[in-house]
Amino acid sequence: MTHIITSLCIRDRGCIEVCPVECMVPGQPVNEWPWIYIDPDTCIDCGACVPECPYAAIFPEDEVPAAYTAKGGEYISKVGLAGHYEGTNHHGKQVVLDTVKQLEAGEVVDLTADIKPNYDYFTSGPGYSAKDSDDGM
Ligand code: SF4
Ligand code: SF4
Repeated sequence: MTHIITSLCIRDRGCIEVCPVECMVPGQPVNEWPWIYIDPDTCIDCGACVPECPYAAIFPEDEVPAAYTAKGGEYISKVGLAGHYEGTNHHGKQVVLDTVKQLEAGEVVDLTADIKPNYDYFTSGPGYSAKDSDDGM
């Protein structure tokens, strides 16, 4: 099994540095791959990244919620959405995303659709090659 980063990720990056096997890679280009992605073949399911995420975006694969109920105000970030987000990440660097939507309290979202992109990023996407082309976001 692996851990999965879901579309609740808005690139805070607090998770990346605690991963003991360095299997978390920032998506590039950001408009096509808006999250950080976990390499499922390398993740050892240690769980160290989970409490580091201020947006509770990371789950063990078999616990990704099919019906996530929004608290209200959190962002979903996905290709195809057109909302704008600007914030500051864990390192104090600016994050700008143009593929977001802010959720209403009580809105229900299926996050299991977010499992596949974690796999795809390392098969059909840039995978580890993006580690070096990272723009700081
Ligand atoms: S800490 Fe959470 S929001 Fe930040 S990059 Fe990791 S998964 Fe995404
Ligand atoms: S569960 Fe552990 S190995 Fe897997 S991505 Fe998180 S920190 Fe890395």
